[in-house]
Amino acid sequence: MTKLKIAVIGYGGMGSYHANTILAKEKDLFEVVGIYDIDSNRQAHAIQDGLPVYENLEEVLKDSNVDALLIATPNDSHKELAIRGMEAGKHIVCEKPAVMNPQEFHEIQKVIERTGRTFMVHQNRRWDPDFLILKELYENKEIGEIFQIESRVHGANGIPGDWRHKKEHGGGMLLDWGVHLFDQLLWMIDSPIKKIETDLSFVLGNEVDDGFFSYITFENNMKVLVEVGTTNYTKLDRWYIKGTKGTAKISDWDLTGEMVVSKETQSVVHPTPIKAGVGLTKTMAPPSEEATTKKKLPKGHEMNQSFYQNFYHVVKNEEEPLVKNEEVLHVLTLMDNILTR
Ligand code: NAD
Repeated sequence: MTKLKIAVIGYGGMGSYHANTILAKEKDLFEVVGIYDIDSNRQAHAIQDGLPVYENLEEVLKDSNVDALLIATPNDSHKELAIRGMEAGKHIVCEKPAVMNPQEFHEIQKVIERTGRTFMVHQNRRWDPDFLILKELYENKEIGEIFQIESRVHGANGIPGDWRHKKEHGGGMLLDWGVHLFDQLLWMIDSPIKKIETDLSFVLGNEVDDGFFSYITFENNMKVLVEVGTTNYTKLDRWYIKGTKGTAKISDWDLTGEMVVSKETQSVVHPTPIKAGVGLTKTMAPPSEEATTKKKLPKGHEMNQSFYQNFYHVVKNEEEPLVKNEEVLHVLTLMDNILTR
């Protein structure tokens, strides 16, 4: 197979991860031909890592050896880099969030139409094993019809880095993590949103949000809570999922968790009351062993291709994109409504 030659624009945390880890696994399909970063320290890092470095962006764009760009720069620079790249004939993998708002995405879409280039956003968390377990539970109905999902990511390190603190660069946790968590749920739940209420947090005193709660009701009555926190010194579970026949939790990215499913019993098995605090309760007692079974979490929904394998075949006109631009626009619109309300 002819390899696609890719240049990495922005060799910071994520750009170097693409070059040295993600793309390194796809050596049959891709070759990283060079790096461009505005920071000379990052250029020096790339050289140390054995990667050729371009002096400036024009050099990358003029290089006919480059088929595609991976854009991993601060969020406010994605639009211009992507447009210039496509106009120079390059296909684009763009880091999330694709751009700052839906208007910018419309500009990108016009250039995609005009140039016929492939533009795909790296919504990599659709491939997260914890999410794929939820997706399998959602599809196979092992805990019945799922009607409530709580999706959380908790950290205690505040907003990381520099540009993520600034509005002008597209900082804040809604754009940083919200884009992943909304993308996962909107991709999985095939129903329009009926209502959304969001509470952004500014407890750290930055001009951008350091976390948020969103409560979403879908037209099919699915209720979802999405929470991102950067001041959580102890974490809640990554996923808490309620279905008509059971409950599941996936505690962390290490995939620990459990699933408790009600048994199909003929007779009603009453729980034994427990002492709770200074009181007694039957309602909040654990379900009786006769009435429920504890099960291992399923392995998770299978993705047939990695993000980059799919990108390769989309460029070759052999596949449909797994991350579609209309889905990206949907999430950008949702976040823009929250931020401009
Ligand atoms: P970072 O600050 O570590 O790296 C950004 C790099 O871009 C820096 O080295 C900087 O010098 C360089 N840069 C800035 N402007 C540039 C320009 N105009 N041209 C060339 N280089 C430029 O940031 P990061 O954490 O790597 O984030 C970069 C992007 O990746 C962001 O969009 C972020 O949201 C995304 N990201 C995605 C994931 C994911 O899992 N998908 C994870 C982390 C970051």
